Amino acid sequence: MTPDIRIVLIQTSHPGNIGSAARAMKTMGLSQLYLVNPLDFPHPKALEMASGADDIVNQAIVVNDLAHAIGDCTFVAGTSARARTIPWPMQSPRELAESIYKTPQKVALLFGREQSGLSNEELQRCHVHTQIPANPDYSSLNLASAVQVLAYELRVASLAQLPITPAWDYPPATVEAMENFYQHLESVMVATTFLNPKVPRQLMTRLRRLFNRAQPDSMEINILRGILASVANALRSAEK
Ligand code: SAH
Repeated sequence: MTPDIRIVLIQTSHPGNIGSAARAMKTMGLSQLYLVNPLDFPHPKALEMASGADDIVNQAIVVNDLAHAIGDCTFVAGTSARARTIPWPMQSPRELAESIYKTPQKVALLFGREQSGLSNEELQRCHVHTQIPANPDYSSLNLASAVQVLAYELRVASLAQLPITPAWDYPPATVEAMENFYQHLESVMVATTFLNPKVPRQLMTRLRRLFNRAQPDSMEINILRGILASVANALRSAEK
């Protein structure tokens, strides 16, 4: 089995960067490009910079919400040069590429805006934070250059004969299933008063980090949803 890999560019401002990213992808054998709310697309500059990779630009899937770009994926990596206040599990591009080829899944690699990168909320949708180990005094690569580095590492990993992780009994949970679980968890914690919605602090962020780190399979998520439903039922019975 080979991994199913997509590149997701969030709110790109320069159409030329979309074309250059498509070219970077095609040289390394990647073809699925998702654009979340691009500021200026379609645009002739994108095709111009794509050079012979205009097929990838023309087939790019444009969506208006990140959830639509990654909902069916089972593993998401967010790329960012910046460390965050609540650190996320980190993988270098090489570690990421190797893990993707050792455990093939439906994968999305997220790239942020030219001006402001990925928001904390977007990074918290991810299983891992991937940082290109650049010059610490000047660490921010051009968007398409960052795509090229990641695509190159994926290419190298695809050519290496990496040992494949043995098959699991249930498929990994999708991002959509995880998001439904987080909403359910949040509502039950509010109902039990464990979570005060007026003072949420970083509770959901920390729980997201915990459960994303565990990478539950679809059966495990069903069990957790069942537990939450039983807590909600018990609360309703107690209220009566
Ligand atoms: N000024 C922005 C940088 C944006 S660069 C910021 O503060 O985050 C555009 C995108 O390229 C980033 O969002 C990220 O997806 C990618 N990128 C650039 N440099 C990177 C690096 N050193 N490591 C990982 N991703 C990088």
